[in-house]
Amino acid sequence: AKSEGRGTYRFFEARMGVEVRERRLLEHDLRHAVARGEMHLVYQPQTDVGSGAVIGFEALLRWKHPERGFVSPAVFIPIAEESDAILRIGEWVLREACREAATWPHPLSIAVNVSAVQIHSPHFVGLVHEVLLKTGLAAHRLEVEVTETALISDPNRALLTLRQLKSLGLRIAMDDFGTGYSSLSNLRSFPFDKIKIDGSFVRSVDSNEQTAAIVRSVLGLGRGLGLPVLAEGVETEAEFGFLAAEQCHAAQGYLMGRPSPIGQFSQHTHGTVPV
Ligand code: C2E
Ligand code: CA
Ligand code: CA
Ligand code: CA
Repeated sequence: AKSEGRGTYRFFEARMGVEVRERRLLEHDLRHAVARGEMHLVYQPQTDVGSGAVIGFEALLRWKHPERGFVSPAVFIPIAEESDAILRIGEWVLREACREAATWPHPLSIAVNVSAVQIHSPHFVGLVHEVLLKTGLAAHRLEVEVTETALISDPNRALLTLRQLKSLGLRIAMDDFGTGYSSLSNLRSFPFDKIKIDGSFVRSVDSNEQTAAIVRSVLGLGRGLGLPVLAEGVETEAEFGFLAAEQCHAAQGYLMGRPSPIGQFSQHTHGTVPV
């Protein structure tokens, strides 16, 4: 039993070694990924529930590793956040997304995900300002998506940053609403312009009474606070039907469109294909 235990220990030790090494390798490769042209953005439509019109797109980052193929942002973003790599990557995402969106027909907006490290960087507001000037994108067409966990490590500083961003004229969406630690008090403390209900609440909204009650109450919260609500992760007509009946403002999900290279949406953005 003793040798068995030691064997188990060695097994875990070896496996952990691999995981740590894997992480370090990815972290190393991430430093050069932008410069080597391995990153690109895909865009997912955001739809007005009442009219069915596309109102904008969320930019989502893709990394095609030369040997591993596509690595999920759910894997590499947290690794990039532990080093400074996220600052360079995030800057590239912002420039690329704004440059792209500046070519779209006017009312279409662009939503860009911003990590905690960026929000707490002293250069972030200046960077956003510079990118808007350089790309010519009207500030009101840019929406920055932040999760509440990005704000709580230093809430005073985060509040200052969000206020400065808003004074540039852009909008701020609370991403993944309902999955954080104290969503309600964060709604009161920070100047959000939109609530994005996390996909985990949207799934099964049409079949699970508890989920339906939660989503209804978030929609009521949005109405009470005067904030539009966007539901993420909408995959079925039944989910969309529920959201329409409950007067949710906007929706995003595989039902309306998967994240795709922007060329595939050019018909939409020119209004020839109704969504
Ligand atoms: P997120 O911001 O909550 O983005 C929504 C995720 O849900 C995306 O995953 C999207 O592809 C996926 N999704 C959209 N519609 C559906 C649907 O109908 N069903 C399901 N099951 N999933 C759907 P993705 O692209 O893998 O991104 C994962 C996360 O990585 C994002 O979650 C975001 O937190 C982060 N991320 C992605 N791009 C960036 C970026 O440029 N910067 C930063 N800081 N984070 C990013
Ligand atoms: Ca997002
Ligand atoms: Ca989200
Ligand atoms: Ca998320």
